[in-house]
Amino acid sequence: MCVLLASHPMQLIDIGANLTHDSFAHDFDAVLERARAHCVVQMMVTGASRAGSEAALELARTHPGVLYATAGVHPHHAIDYDADTDALLRRLAGEAEVRALGETGLDYHRNYSPREVQLRAFEQQLTIAAEMKMPVFLHQRDAHGDFLALLKAFRDALPGVVVHCFTDTREALFDYLDLDCHIGITGWLCDERRGLHLRELVREIPEGRLMIETDAPYLLPRTVQPKPSHRRNEPMYLRHICEELARDRGEDTEVTAAHTTATAIAFFHLAVPGERGGGGHYVAT
Ligand SMILES: [Zn+2]
Repeated sequence: MCVLLASHPMQLIDIGANLTHDSFAHDFDAVLERARAHCVVQMMVTGASRAGSEAALELARTHPGVLYATAGVHPHHAIDYDADTDALLRRLAGEAEVRALGETGLDYHRNYSPREVQLRAFEQQLTIAAEMKMPVFLHQRDAHGDFLALLKAFRDALPGVVVHCFTDTREALFDYLDLDCHIGITGWLCDERRGLHLRELVREIPEGRLMIETDAPYLLPRTVQPKPSHRRNEPMYLRHICEELARDRGEDTEVTAAHTTATAIAFFHLAVPGERGGGGHYVAT
């Protein structure tokens, strides 16, 4: 299904999949099989809480070369961030399968954790990333001003920054690009109610700064046909997101696939797909 030419199979990398979510427990192997059948060769398992980050590492360990992990605490869970959490993230960040700090950032849309608590947890995780020379996987919603200010303060100390699931304005996009950040695009693009502005904006993201993600099980692309009977998103739909994104950028799908995959490999120091292990871990100095 994903072979274009025998010698040039399309390869996609999902840089944000919440595969430790309960909804994947009953058919996990089938989810990975469907991903593979839709050209998704590697996935970054998002760590968004203490337990979730440990579980993400476990999943990555059992699927070497296919699954990698991040370690972090989402702003929704910032209230849980304490000294033990800080120590845990430092330990996880030293593991070979963990390729970024995060998901961390600020979410003033829901404010599940108070803003000052979010700011503190975000700053502490940026500190770990800076000290351990790790790239960061960031979330920002309705918090661009505070987010940008903190990011600016740390930017020079961070080897890489991806603003995942970008949904914000043109001004925010250029603020991030000016800071040499990478941008993650999800199926939000396919949402005719709130994602239409992204259809134009994605043309402004240069090759080498753009990566793609599902954010599964959230954000099932609304343009998938036929509509699945369930609401769960999964990595197999990355192919659909890549096709929509390519159309909006005026590129062939193969071109978008090739440069977003190359960017993800470089950003997260991943093994070349199909080769077990490999890749270089960021070594703390
Ligand atoms: Zn997020």
